[in-house]
Amino acid sequence: MSELRELYQETIIDHGRHPRNFGVLPEANLHQEGFNPLCGDKIIIHVYENNDIIENMTFEGVGCAISMASASLMTECLKGKSKQEVQEMFDAFHQLMTERNHSVNDKLGKLAVLAGVIDFPVRVKCATLAWHTLKAALAHESYVVNTEESLK
Ligand code: ZN
Repeated sequence: MSELRELYQETIIDHGRHPRNFGVLPEANLHQEGFNPLCGDKIIIHVYENNDIIENMTFEGVGCAISMASASLMTECLKGKSKQEVQEMFDAFHQLMTERNHSVNDKLGKLAVLAGVIDFPVRVKCATLAWHTLKAALAHESYVVNTEESLK
């Protein structure tokens, strides 16, 4: 195992144990729930969106270290971003989880620590749960996101 891989794992463990932006968000105007039945990960995302900008975002939930770390890193990286930028990050993150295309790593910054998840297909749903949930929140969907049902 390379040192870089170990460093990435430390970041994942740190965010999994001490998630950033964890809790309620009183000013939130979007709320979305997501569920990954394969692993039992549950998440609720709270977003304060203003003029198509994610002004603030928090999450609550229970789940494995990967799901919590991914949600934590996502909230850190997307605060202050426009919906368009969020969509671009979503696409890049999706690529990171499904293709061995390392050119997306630069674009993703800190989120690239999750690149190793591609080697554990079952964990990909843990890592993408927060993203699918956020996407549904921004689309003002009312259903509970479920990783075992077709995702848009
Ligand atoms: Zn999980």
